[in-house]
Parts: sequence; structure tokens; C-alpha cells
Amino acid sequence: MRDQIEKLCELFKLDDQIKALTGRIRNREMELKRNVMEENLLTDSFTREKENLSATEKRHRDTNREIEMLEERKGKLKINLSNVRENNEYQALLREIATIEAKITEHMGKAIQCMDDEEGGHTKIDKMTGDVANKQKKLETIRKTLESEKQQLGQEISQLTAERTELAGTLKMAVKSKYERVLKAKGDSAIVSVEDGACSGCHFRLPPQMVAEVRGGDRLVFCESCNRILVMMALHE
Ligand SMILES: [Zn+2]
Repeated sequence: MRDQIEKLCELFKLDDQIKALTGRIRNREMELKRNVMEENLLTDSFTREKENLSATEKRHRDTNREIEMLEERKGKLKINLSNVRENNEYQALLREIATIEAKITEHMGKAIQCMDDEEGGHTKIDKMTGDVANKQKKLETIRKTLESEKQQLGQEISQLTAERTELAGTLKMAVKSKYERVLKAKGDSAIVSVEDGACSGCHFRLPPQMVAEVRGGDRLVFCESCNRILVMMALHE
């Protein structure tokens, strides 16, 4: 039985290693996912910024066209002014010209605002162009690193899995199924060592007789408190 317990510990160590490697792959994938999301957010706001700028540019063009039309109208009215004989007609024309001039001033203000907005927009876009390029470069690096790491880790995992299969084949069915059961229930650390007379999994103080049984190695001993398999040897080097 002692030999079976030792093999079981080896199996457990392999499972532990496989789990750690799988965890590393998962962490890497999450890192990639997070970076992809960050890149998407950045690209989205970049697109929005560019859309804002072209909207401002369109508004600017429209305003300029409006000013041109008003100027043209004003010019025509001024020509009319010299042809008018009646005073009240003359006064009416002057008022119309004044209204147009006020509109031109108003549109000029809008055009200036557009220019300010455009300048701000260009500055932002220039900066964001750099940010997006950096982010994409970083993403590419992460993707490449992840691919090669995944490949390497995958090889290690399949090697360990092969070792595990071979080792599991040398275990008695009953021993193996008990271990699998605890592993399934606990999710990890199915086997724990006895440290200073206590279970290192749940720190339950074990009766001395139980510690003696674990040391004896004649049967599988389970912690009374957490049901993990107890062994004397150290499991993590
Ligand atoms: Zn325990």
C-alpha cells in the first residue's frame, strides 16, 4: 500500500503541474482578451473623434457658404441703395443691410468656433493615432508571445498527461477512484501532508492514532474534517 500511496502522490504532483500550466495559459488568454477590449475601446473613441472632426469641418464649410451668400445679398442691396429715390424705401434697405451684417457677424463667430474645435480635434487625433498604433503593436507582441507560450505549454501539458496516464495505469482501481473523488470534490489539493500533527489542508488537529496510521502507510487515511487524503511526505518541492 505504501508504494501505491507514493505513486498517488506522484500522480497528484503531475495533476498539480498540469493545472498550473493550464492556469498559465488561461491567464495569458485573459490578458490578451483584456488588451483586445482596450484596443477596441481606443479604436471606437478614435473613430468617434474623427467623426466629430468631420462634422465640425462640414459645419465650418456650411457656415462659410452662408457667409458668402449673405455677402452677395448685401452687395446687391448696396447697389439697390443708389437707385432708390424714396426715403422710406431707402431706410428699409438700410435696415435690411444692417440685419444681414448682424447675421454675418454671428456666422463669423460660428466659423471661429469651428476653427478652434478643428484645431483641438486635430491635436487629439494626432495623439490618438500614436496611441492606437502603440496599442496595436503591443497587442501583436502579446498575441505572438501567447501563441509561442501556448504551444510550449501545450507540449509540456501533453507530456505530463502522457506520464499521468502511464502512472495512473499502475494504480489500483480503488485507490485511483478514491483520489479522483476527492479531487472532484475539492477542485484542488486532494492530497495534503500532515504538518505538526495537523492536516495542512484545513489545519484540523489530527488524533495521534490517525497520524500514526498515516505514517504506517497501510491504508489511505482521510482527514476527518476536510476529507482530503493525508500523507507524511512533502508534496511541494
Ligand atoms: Zn483536513
